[in-house]
Amino acid sequence: MRTLKKILRTCPKGHQYYKSSDCPTCPVCEAAKKPTEGFMAGLSAPAVRALQTAGMSSLKILSQHSKKEVLALHGIGPSSIPKLGAALKKEGLDFKN
Ligand SMILES: [Zn+2]
Repeated sequence: MRTLKKILRTCPKGHQYYKSSDCPTCPVCEAAKKPTEGFMAGLSAPAVRALQTAGMSSLKILSQHSKKEVLALHGIGPSSIPKLGAALKKEGLDFKN
């Protein structure tokens, strides 16, 4: 049987949190980083992080990638795609075909 061991971690900013996975993300920093405006505002924190990590920080850059490519990013769920699609359409853009 696999046991999930919670490990107390301290992020570079000094927040302490328990994580059972090996994902080294601090929930406090994560919440602070979450954009409140722009096309990433309605997305989940992992989705935002995935886009930022991939360098897709603007709709213009996002539009140079296909839905499939964006979905393949770790942290992007299927529910993020319609939100991103709507944001792209607002700017007259779309995912790459
Ligand atoms: Zn932190």
